[in-house]
Amino acid sequence: AASSATIASDRGPVSESSKAEIISYEPATGAEIWRGPVCEIDDVVSRARRAWPGWAAQPLSTRMELARRFANEVRKDADKLATSIAREVGKPLWEANAEVEQVINKVEVSIRAYAERTSQRKLDSALQGTMAVRHKPHGVLVVLGPYNYPAHLPNAHIVPALIAGNVVIFKPSEKAPASGEILARCFNRAGISAAVMQFAPGGPTEGQALISHDGVDGVLFTGSANTGIAINRRLATRPDKMVALEMGGNNAMVMWDTPKLTDAAALIVQSAFATTGQRCTAARRLIVKNSMYDAVISEVKALADRVIFGAPFDEPAPFMGPVIDNAAADGLSESFLYLMSNGGKAIKHLVRPDESLPFLSPAIIDTTAMKDRPDVELFGPILQVIRVEDFDEAIAETNNTRFGLAASLIGGTPQEYNKFWANARAGLVNWNRATVNPSHAAPMGGIGLSGNHRPTGYYAADYCAYPVASGEMEQPRAMIGVGLK
Ligand code: NAD
Repeated sequence: AASSATIASDRGPVSESSKAEIISYEPATGAEIWRGPVCEIDDVVSRARRAWPGWAAQPLSTRMELARRFANEVRKDADKLATSIAREVGKPLWEANAEVEQVINKVEVSIRAYAERTSQRKLDSALQGTMAVRHKPHGVLVVLGPYNYPAHLPNAHIVPALIAGNVVIFKPSEKAPASGEILARCFNRAGISAAVMQFAPGGPTEGQALISHDGVDGVLFTGSANTGIAINRRLATRPDKMVALEMGGNNAMVMWDTPKLTDAAALIVQSAFATTGQRCTAARRLIVKNSMYDAVISEVKALADRVIFGAPFDEPAPFMGPVIDNAAADGLSESFLYLMSNGGKAIKHLVRPDESLPFLSPAIIDTTAMKDRPDVELFGPILQVIRVEDFDEAIAETNNTRFGLAASLIGGTPQEYNKFWANARAGLVNWNRATVNPSHAAPMGGIGLSGNHRPTGYYAADYCAYPVASGEMEQPRAMIGVGLK
């Protein structure tokens, strides 16, 4: 059965001119959706370097205007982009439409963020004249995209990077080049040239080559922790490069006292199973007060039983599509079996109705009795449940991970939430809200293995430009007052 993406570099004898190809397949059907050669690294980088001075010299107002035109181009192509996202990564169409809206909204958010986070400041002092603080772009930035939000997440780096005056080399996920290409063409049609915003298809090999290239000034990455660590290691001797890493999570949801069990169950199901669990912020671990366990679990299970999983364009619309490919579905099935054979008790089994396709049901498993729960991100629709006796234990369990992206408390008193907020180690800490759906008008990022302290969202402006301090006077003025002969 087809995996949703293949890098075909070893098909037959390789001649001088033959190149590796990226092929992407629809998870729901196995049909091919896109095929094309990987990019030529040196060409891509030299084109970007040549384009940068001209782009950086444009007035900020021009770059902002072009970003707004890009939003209009996306609006015109909204159906095409949403259909491509739904086909290529298996998202239900309603959810792909919502992703396109996020792409459009990112532009105004980024314009506001640039002005607020990286605006000019003048500090006047009678003695020293004017001290100005202004920001400069880094230069050529590589954006590496993940597959789960193939348009919105790369875009969340690209738009702020362009506004700040960088040129961008966008390497989409090898599992979602078709959607990446449509996004890139919207920039180009808006008047942002294919040198300023370049589409550079490729896989991990091209990703490595791009970020290591001397002509590249930084990498803005969204993807898995393993890849983020590999990038960090590769660039360990290159402090000159900006490295912004948005990685995964092993996120906790703590369920404490509340009379509103139906609402709580809806937040839990949404957090665990939206996008078939393929969200960095998805709740992986539900930590439940023991005395509430039966009531909460029966409510959550009843709702999870009602979740429709199916193909992106099915009617009635599914809540979840397939996972990205058969390899991912195989891995998740194996992980579920591993949890079961190491002390986990299945509350709701992971069902795969057709072994040749990557459709999976929502699954829930109680892993309280497991001695060593693997601290890994299971990127799919598997929710682990852990019972605890008291609130301190709940907080300790929340932090029982090397990741630190999202954590939510459902129920509890304001005092308990204060304690949770103060002690939960995560970049997104919520109360009576899902772990998913972070606001892009706020910082979005994590600590630990979830990120390198460069949150994206509203704070993307911070890593797209660096501050320059300038002492400035119209005329030279002598400053040495003492110590001269
Ligand atoms: P991935 O790490 O496999 O790939 C991401 C990108 O990195 C791809 O473009 C890939 O080609 C490239 N890449 C892979 N190996 C590389 C290497 N050694 N050097 C340079 N580039 C390399 O991630 P994925 O499977 O596409 O996406 C899912 C992951 O992304 C999950 O772990 C999820 O939690 C995470 N994610 C994080 C956020 C966030 O904002 N924190 C958002 C969405 C997804």
